[in-house]
Amino acid sequence: MKSAWQLFLVALAAGALSVSVWAQGTDFSKIEFTAKKIASNLYMVSGSPNVDVNHPDAAGGLVGVLAGPDGIFMVDAQYAQVSDKLLAAIKKISPEPIRFMANTHIHGDHTAGNPFFAKMGVVIFAREELREQMIHPPRLGNGNPGPARDPAGYPVVTYGMGAPVKFHMNGEVIDLIPVRAAHTGGDTMIRFENANVIMIGDFYRNFGYPFIDRANGGTLNGMLEGCDQLMKIAGPDTTLIPGHGTWIKRTDLVPYADMIKSVRDKVKQLMAQGKTEKEVVAAKPTAAWDAKTAGGLGAAGAGMTSADRFVSEVYQELKGGAK
Ligand SMILES: [Zn+2]
Repeated sequence: MKSAWQLFLVALAAGALSVSVWAQGTDFSKIEFTAKKIASNLYMVSGSPNVDVNHPDAAGGLVGVLAGPDGIFMVDAQYAQVSDKLLAAIKKISPEPIRFMANTHIHGDHTAGNPFFAKMGVVIFAREELREQMIHPPRLGNGNPGPARDPAGYPVVTYGMGAPVKFHMNGEVIDLIPVRAAHTGGDTMIRFENANVIMIGDFYRNFGYPFIDRANGGTLNGMLEGCDQLMKIAGPDTTLIPGHGTWIKRTDLVPYADMIKSVRDKVKQLMAQGKTEKEVVAAKPTAAWDAKTAGGLGAAGAGMTSADRFVSEVYQELKGGAK
């Protein structure tokens, strides 16, 4: 029989971690939520630092809350284990009912709380691909089916790669902007037009290296396209808010995309020399950025650093042929 550790490695290799495995070692009872006001009726709710083993900067994925007399619109749902605490934090912002939620992507730190909120009557919006990923989770490395999701948390309203879905609530215009396969195959950015804020999800990150979840349809080229798309949508003063890490402006995307391209080119060169995936990872193609990438050499599970995970994803994508 395989040990829990071996199973963890298998799951990690597949890049398809279940919510429980993903957050293994995290003491959810220690997670508290803090709301930060960013515009007159828009708040960002983040989890405690130094609790979540995979996100030491702030537990789980950031939650957005647009509050007002028309009811609450929220972005993402955090881990299932902290739904009660998240709800309490939202109720402190506004007593109005939560009406709608949008998911930036499928990962459990952003969607595992979906069933809790759906059962309260919240209508969940997401990409068609995200719903498909929930219904048919990618297989694990050992060939077993991925962990099943509670159908109560499946998005009710879905959309594809067309024009943004628009909400008109609380004096704000909210756009759900689809991104082509980047962090996952079902990414969405959420723009609050009047607040001049875009919640960009996880295809950009400034804590650790990029995570291309290939098992869920993520691609390197999609990440670069996402950066280009965001450069066009955002104004110079637009606040860009990733799912993890610190808030940025449009200009911060440039060095990020450059880093991705440079690492890709280095990996390509090493592959052209006939190096295996293990050798490419061991050659540390990210070395030039490690000192300035917060959390870059931090653990990304199973003894792998976030740098190693990124490099092996790039290798696999190039080996499979760029999309
Ligand atoms: Zn995330």
